[in-house]
Amino acid sequence: MSETNSFLKEIIKTSNDIWTKGWAERNAGNISVRLDTEELHCNFNNKSPWQKLSRQLPGIGGDYFLVSGTGKYIRNIPVDPEASLGIIEVDKSGENYRTVWGYKDGGRPTSELAAHLQAHSVRKNMTNGRDRALIHTHPANLIALTYALELDTCSLTRLLWEMHAECIVVFPEGVEFLPWMMAGSDQIADATAEAFRKRNMVVWQYHGIFATGDDLDTAFGLIDTVEKAAEIHIKVMSLGGCKQKPSIDTLRAIAANFGKVPAPDIIDRLV
Ligand SMILES: [Zn+2]
Repeated sequence: MSETNSFLKEIIKTSNDIWTKGWAERNAGNISVRLDTEELHCNFNNKSPWQKLSRQLPGIGGDYFLVSGTGKYIRNIPVDPEASLGIIEVDKSGENYRTVWGYKDGGRPTSELAAHLQAHSVRKNMTNGRDRALIHTHPANLIALTYALELDTCSLTRLLWEMHAECIVVFPEGVEFLPWMMAGSDQIADATAEAFRKRNMVVWQYHGIFATGDDLDTAFGLIDTVEKAAEIHIKVMSLGGCKQKPSIDTLRAIAANFGKVPAPDIIDRLV
């Protein structure tokens, strides 16, 4: 596997960006990409035994994924991709997976593999195969909001839409808010996958965010926009709070101006 491979170049760039942003302390965060099998011109000769997935996912049967490793540091992906990353193959039935490349020091995929693969299965189906990338990170301003405020999907999305005039254009689908659940559990994986039926971002209370997109740049850009809005909110509050902000009608008009349709299950509940 050569680092000139386009998907390796892309994940190395994104890993650098995530580290520079401060969204991935220690071994925080994880990344996965559903690979285009046309791009995979290698003979994998280092296949691990098959391992059972906690949920059968026939929608991604036969697919290959580039996945960051459990316990690995995102900042080390550019330094040693073959230790920090692996490629896994899901069998045709979607019941099992095996490692075919990477994790060279005996590593394994991220402990959030269930959430990643269930989300990939949903997004592949919902977007006719367009969405391929998934990023989970720990952006500080956004996480701070989940401590300071009582939030649900509507109130969090409204707050973020209001904190920059272009937010509703970047994420008209809104941001799903999930109350605290144990990371790595099937419960949070199921809830996250279900949320991805309607949204392309999911916030985990006290923890961080998942974002999906057709490529890593898109998923990264979504998180960057949300985190910027959260930061603006905190700055505004530190200046004494909002003196004025865009009305719901203004938000609707901005979205319409860019041909975007805000999630009806959110905007129709805002007054
Ligand atoms: Zn995390």
